[in-house]
Amino acid sequence: MFDSLSLTRIPADDEALRAPVRAFLDKALEGVAPEVRARSWGGFDAAFSRALGERGWIGLTLPKEYGGGGRSLYARFVLVEELLRAGAPVAAHWFADRQSAPHILKFGTPAQAQFHLPRICRGEVFFCIGMSEPGSGSDLASVRTRATRNDKGWRLDGQKIWTTNAHRSHYMIALVRTSGDAGSRQKGLSQVIVDLSLPGITIRPITDLTGDAHFCEVFFDGVQLTDDALIGAEGDGWNQVTSELAYERSGPERIYSSVVLLDEWLAHLRTRREPSQRSLALAGRVLSALAVLRSLSVSVNGRLAEGESPIVEAALVKDLGTTLEQFIPEAIADALGDDPDATLPDGLARTLQYVSQIAPAFSLRGGTREVLRGMIARGLGLR
Ligand SMILES: Cc1cc2nc3c(=O)[nH]c(=O)nc-3n(C[C@H](O)[C@H](O)[C@H](O)COP(=O)(O)OP(=O)(O)OC[C@H]3O[C@@H](n4cnc5c(N)ncnc54)[C@H](O)[C@@H]3O)c2cc1C
Repeated sequence: MFDSLSLTRIPADDEALRAPVRAFLDKALEGVAPEVRARSWGGFDAAFSRALGERGWIGLTLPKEYGGGGRSLYARFVLVEELLRAGAPVAAHWFADRQSAPHILKFGTPAQAQFHLPRICRGEVFFCIGMSEPGSGSDLASVRTRATRNDKGWRLDGQKIWTTNAHRSHYMIALVRTSGDAGSRQKGLSQVIVDLSLPGITIRPITDLTGDAHFCEVFFDGVQLTDDALIGAEGDGWNQVTSELAYERSGPERIYSSVVLLDEWLAHLRTRREPSQRSLALAGRVLSALAVLRSLSVSVNGRLAEGESPIVEAALVKDLGTTLEQFIPEAIADALGDDPDATLPDGLARTLQYVSQIAPAFSLRGGTREVLRGMIARGLGLR
């Protein structure tokens, strides 16, 4: 029992990356309003991503021969933690850095890696993730978008939905059906890299509750892909996509979505002469929960670094993490009610409004809470 309670520590070499990243971010984000920083991995800023690329901070774990940093997953953990803590606008390069690039390295041909990875590392090209479709979100195995072989390669027809930043990305890695039909489920699925500038593609952004338009509907109407668009083996798309999701679910981004709000609130609390007991207790409760979650997230990172695939543990971190992320805005709004005479700083009010409105999405993106709990129950042998 105690073995599973031992802490994984970030090696000192990797921890050393924290100071230069923090110094860069302090300067780059100076004066940026908290409600803008609170968007962090929703914040799209191509110039900021290129600046990170110039410093070697995109593709940190990729081999140096492809323009990467050749560093460990721990180094990337430190980098990502600092980016999110500061509320840096990481959305442009985020998906390629986190999952598309490692995916291309793992399943792609040397030519695909040579073509895509150096440009990803320089922050020149951005990727989006084409998994969900209308009626195929949690039930991903039912996707209908089809790639049909022809003499020029593949003809792509169908529709994706909720594709984050499709309207601002250069490429999508799409899960498609290459044989069978929706009833064939996991069989007959493959993944293709789609150049989003090709004719026959229509991209329509969807505006969310906050007024931001970050995700999109994407329509494919007879899009002609070349032969080398296929990534990995034909028909192996399900296995590939499952391994991609382990990267998506375990990282620090699943615990820090409300951290800019938390910082703003703590700063406000420090200005009050007599903060309420409830506020102080809340601050302690949230910070201790965050400390435990962070340890869990570092441990999952350690398992990934060992080459394992801790799917259940990653699902646990995401479920506990998003629960805390959603609790923070609700609890802060309640606690502010204890101090009705305080003048709320504009930045705090706007950040609270934004985070409260976006919070329901925290437990949807990357797999819903209910679906993750089903996986956890299965992993524990309960179903
Ligand atoms: C902000 C945001 C960004 C996103 N970005 C992307 C992206 O870039 N690319 C992409 O492909 N997708 C993206 N998504 C889509 C996301 O992955 C899906 O919304 C999610 O998988 C749920 O699918 P759905 O919306 O079809 O809901 P449904 O699957 O229809 O689920 C509806 C409800 O039923 C519940 N439910 C469904 N099945 C079960 C079950 N078996 N057991 C118990 N409960 C169940 C769900 O938990 C949910 O509450 C994004 C979503 C959000 C909110």
